[in-house]
Amino acid sequence: MKILTSLGLLSVFIFVLSACTLGLDQDNSITLFTQRHYDTDQELFDLFTEQTGIAVNVVSAGGDELMNRLETEGEDTAADVLLMADVGRLHLATERGLLQPVSSPTLSENIPANFREPQGYWFGLTKRARIIVYHPDRVSMSELSTYQALTEPQWEGRVVTRTSTNLYSQSFTASMIAVYGEEEARTFVRGLVANLAHAPRGNDRDQAKQVMNGEADVAIMNTYYMGRMLNSADPFEREVAETLALFFPNQETTGTHVNLSAAGVTRHANNVEGAIQFIEFLSGTEAQGLFASANFEYPVNEAVEIDPLVASWGSFKPQEINLALLGVHARQAVIIMDEEGWE
Ligand code: FE
Repeated sequence: MKILTSLGLLSVFIFVLSACTLGLDQDNSITLFTQRHYDTDQELFDLFTEQTGIAVNVVSAGGDELMNRLETEGEDTAADVLLMADVGRLHLATERGLLQPVSSPTLSENIPANFREPQGYWFGLTKRARIIVYHPDRVSMSELSTYQALTEPQWEGRVVTRTSTNLYSQSFTASMIAVYGEEEARTFVRGLVANLAHAPRGNDRDQAKQVMNGEADVAIMNTYYMGRMLNSADPFEREVAETLALFFPNQETTGTHVNLSAAGVTRHANNVEGAIQFIEFLSGTEAQGLFASANFEYPVNEAVEIDPLVASWGSFKPQEINLALLGVHARQAVIIMDEEGWE
């Protein structure tokens, strides 16, 4: 009887063991929550699957929506990796306890220390600059200098940018708080709002199109959209990018605002190892070349060359702040924009 019981237990044990083994084999996938909205990313995820056998289930949505979902789903979430096109949001996700720290010598080697969270909660993967795009028939480069200069009277009714609900606008304003303090950031926002050509509308590309159409003379927008439009299937977008010129503001002062796309492993990830492997892959030389150049961004991995088109825009001095501050000041940025009438 005792022997039978032992045998019974043993077979149960073997059954459980093989189920676990099978489970591990079947769990050759990760689920990615991504806020990045660029079709070129999918090709890279496919390459990762090809190389590792790990499938990537992609869930795309807005940044705040993904964070709320992670919070609501808690331990039951399918998400292993959170990827955002705004490093401020990664900071907030860390604060909300939605991520877990991971350590990886590969990530430490591939990503410079100022582009990753010191404890390993998030890792920057691509870099973008928020610049001034202008119509060279109506603006000469010598008239441009800083973001703040756009608040001067000669720019009245000539500036366009995104709404204040947009994460890029929020991180941009947060960076002004980080660099100049709250009062100066508020003065800047007030002056910018006063000089807007019309209530903000449309995405980054639309800002450039509004300049092209003569609705405004300068736009504040991200660098890579100029590259994307130049390579667009839409002839008007190509014309916009070919006609307009870009300018890196604050080069003589505090530097141009930069933001990162960054990723972290979720707190309740089922496949932590797969998640780390995925982020390591994205930070590696092969992926960085594709990841950054497919969307005309700057790679964070210094061993990787900048895309020739991006390089043709020239080098620039970025704001030298800890990029986690974009998250630290995010709420205050929204309050200031709201109070100063940035729609
Ligand atoms: Fe974007």
